[in-house]
Order: sequence, then C-alpha cells, then structure tokens
Amino acid sequence: MKGKVTLVGAGAGDPGLLTLKGREVLGRADVVVYDRLVGEGVLAMMPPGAEKIDVGKRSAHHPVPQDEINEILLQKALEGKNVVRLKGGDPFVFGRGGEELEKLCERGVEFEVVPGVTSAVAAAAYAGIPVTHRDCCSSLHIITGHARAGKPLQIDFDALCRAGGTMVFLMGVSAMPRIVEGLLGAGMPPETPAAMVESGTTAAQRRCLATLGTLPEKAAAMGIHSPAVIIVGEVCALAERFGWFDRLPLRGRRIVVTRPRERAGTLCSRLRALGADVLEYPCIETVPIDPCPELDRAIGCLGGYEWLCFTSPAGVDVFFGRLGALGLDARALSGVKIAVIGTGTAGALLLHGLRYDLMPEVYDARHLGELLAARAQGRVLIARAELGSAELTAALDGRAVAYDDVAVYRTVYASPRSDELRHELEDGGRVFVTFTSASTVKGFAGSLEGAPLGSVVGLCIGRQTAEAAGKLGIETYTAEKATIDELIELAKKIN
Ligand code: SAH
Repeated sequence: MKGKVTLVGAGAGDPGLLTLKGREVLGRADVVVYDRLVGEGVLAMMPPGAEKIDVGKRSAHHPVPQDEINEILLQKALEGKNVVRLKGGDPFVFGRGGEELEKLCERGVEFEVVPGVTSAVAAAAYAGIPVTHRDCCSSLHIITGHARAGKPLQIDFDALCRAGGTMVFLMGVSAMPRIVEGLLGAGMPPETPAAMVESGTTAAQRRCLATLGTLPEKAAAMGIHSPAVIIVGEVCALAERFGWFDRLPLRGRRIVVTRPRERAGTLCSRLRALGADVLEYPCIETVPIDPCPELDRAIGCLGGYEWLCFTSPAGVDVFFGRLGALGLDARALSGVKIAVIGTGTAGALLLHGLRYDLMPEVYDARHLGELLAARAQGRVLIARAELGSAELTAALDGRAVAYDDVAVYRTVYASPRSDELRHELEDGGRVFVTFTSASTVKGFAGSLEGAPLGSVVGLCIGRQTAEAAGKLGIETYTAEKATIDELIELAKKIN
C-alpha cells in the first residue's frame, strides 16, 4: 500500500504556533523530514519512534538538494510510510512546498497540506508590528529578497512603491542594502518606518527599529543575521508601543528545566509563555517497578487499608496503571481514604476520577506524614518511589501507625547532554535551573560531572529539594508552596 505525505507548516519558531492539526498529524508520523527553520520546540514533538530526517544540514552545513528531498518524500511514501514534511512557517510561503508536491502528484501519491503561521506575519506580530492597519495601509506584500548567485534582484520597486502597502521581505538579509536602495530609488521617502526582526517568535528574537534611510546602518551595528524579515511601511512606527514580547517578565531569561520529559510540558510551556528561553534538560526518568509483587499483593487486599497515600503524580499513574492491568478500576478503592502530598498529585488523581481526603498545608513528606499520623486509625498503603523520603514513615512510626511502604517506581538518572549548558557554566554566567525534586538535583549534577556549579541559580520547589541543591554549593531559592504555580512565581521574582 502506498503511504502518504503531509506538508506541515511548523510556524515561525515558537512551538505554540504549530496548529492543532499540525500537531495531530505530526504525532502519527512514521517519518518526519524537517529542515533548518523548524523550531526546537516543534522538533521535540516528533514521535519518539519516528524516523527523523534532517534535510536542513548535512556534512559541512550544506542542505540536502531539493531534488533529493523530493525523492526522499516519494520513496518513503512508496514504502507505505506516513510521511510528514515539516517546514518552517507556512509550507507554501517561499517554502518550495509546491515543488515537493510535483513528484508526488506524478506518481499518484496521496498528499495533504497543513498551513502554518508564516514568519512574514508572526515575526512582525511578536515585534509589535501589525502587518496591516486600517489607518495606514490597504495591502500587504510578501517578497523574496533572494537573488540567484551573481544575478540582480528580481523586484519591481516602482510597482511596490505605487502599491503603497506594507512590505515584508523574506530571505533578504544579505540583499537588504540593495532592497533599501531600490525602494529609495523608486521614490520612497527615507523617513518611511522600517524594521528587521531576527529569529522572530523565539527566545532569541531581536528587532531593529529604524527608518528606510537608517536601516542599513542600524542593522549592521546590531549584527542582524539570518533568519530575519525586513518590514517596510508606516505600521513599523507602532512597534515601540505594541512591542509586547520584549516586555514579558521572563524575556531573555534562560531557564533549564530538569523534570522528566513527560512531566515537563506544562512548566516549559508556561515559562515560554512568559518569554523565557527554556532548555529542556530532563535529568531523571521514572520507571515503574515491574513486576511488583508487593503492589499486586496490596491491590489484592485494598479493603484492609484505611488510607492510600501518594507522594507524586508518577506514583498515582503507576498505581492506577497496575490496577487497570489487573482488570480493576477506581471502584476497587471504595471505602479507602486517599492522602496526597500536594496539588500536582491531587491533579493526577483527579484524572482517574478521584478526589483526595487529605492534603497537608505544606506540600512535603514530613507534613504529609504528621497529618496522616494524626488521622490514621487503620493501616496505610503508601505507593511511591523507591528510596522515598524517610520523613514520611518516621512520622507514622512516631505514632505507631501501621503501614506498607511499597516502592512502585524508581527514579533513574537520565543523561541529557548540552555542550551549550556546559560552556555557560564554565564561563561562569548565571544559569537558572528549576529543580522539582531532590533527584533532579542529583541527576543534574551527575550529568554535568566536572563542570563548575557555582553560577547555577537553583529555583527549588520545596525545602528538601533546596537542601539537596544547597549541599552542592548552588545558590538556592525555594517556592512559597511546592507547586508549579509558585515555582513560576519564584522565577519571576529572582533576578
Ligand atoms: N516558509 C517560511 C519562509 C521560508 S523562506 C515561512 O512561511 O515563514 C526563509 C526565510 O523566512 C528566512 O530567510 C527569513 O527571512 C524568514 N524566516 C523564517 N523564520 C523566521 C523567523 N523565525 N524570524 C524571522 N524570519 C524568519
């Protein structure tokens, strides 16, 4: 059976600009063929099992020639694969999407196109430039500034000036002085507002606000480089007032997120929405203990427990996973009261349709233990990580509460690699790192063995986590409550 190719626009860089349809299609891909301009955040959404082909760079930074890309798409589809061709911005806005469809059409391969948010509009929007505005322009022109080697630009500057709308030039960084010259030559006033936006919609975005007359000098002084859009027109004058992106509270701040990848999503996207430059650096993974006879035994006699106690969302997920595998569901817990350590765990529980009966004021093991010890009259089942905090069980021991402390998953250290992070640490610049458990601290230090940690600023979710970080000489700050909300508040406060 023949496969299918879907051209998907990845948006201009910010992963939030991938469309819902794009994400859905990407999630089902067998093969993803992507290029240079696709944002890192979108690349991170590629399904782990998919074959990933980077046609943006090969040896010595040379991209794979277009013919070869067309051939790869065709061959993979003929092998019966579900192929996603992921392209920066919109696939048809100077994206050569049309060329890629030609061959597929000829060979009768099925295809679809998912449009994307083009940089022509998105980079402008993030720079505070509405590409049209009723007061000052009635058309929008998207123009390529690319010229074939040694050939002059193929742009009709007179026509553009006559039309008088907003102009957005893509692929125009090196030709920018010639574009400006062409527009001035066609009679456009040098005081016309103009701008360049580099790496628009990403944490690395920089904007250069100028006039047509001053753009070449200003852009050169800032060292604006590709990818960047050039915008010319009255709307550029609005950028100072409308420049919302540069005013975000965490704008430009690099923040490392060390949570396991499957749990990092919300934290990462919320930090990004506040303008942070997030580095996903998962330092731990949670692995269910399987087989786990102790858990099976406990599930077999749930009626014998007064309380079931969870100290993490992972514990909740593993417990219910096993319950389901044994052919049971939440009804098996009727009559059992449930204690959780904090709101994150409560949220995970709610996903299984259950509310908690007990949650401490302070979301840590000691407070949970003390509260539970004061309430419990019968036996307690604790489903948590191997090597969980002894403070929980010590509090129960203190009041002679009977319990079964069952290790249902273990934390293993992942070994993420980031040469960039290592260099930043070696250079001694402040590096902000979020730690959501003592194990993320340990995993972080382990993954960077040998690198100095003196310039790390640890944003810690709770006391125990902060203690672990403090022991490594990390400057630490602790969230007011052990929640993702408060961790984000902390990130906003610390400079
Ligand atoms: N299909 C893409 C454009 C591909 S042409 C789209 O719709 O956005 C490549 C050009 O797009 C670059 O030279 C640059 O001018 C522009 N570009 C792409 N991503 C950009 C970004 N994040 N910021 C600024 N310009 C970008």
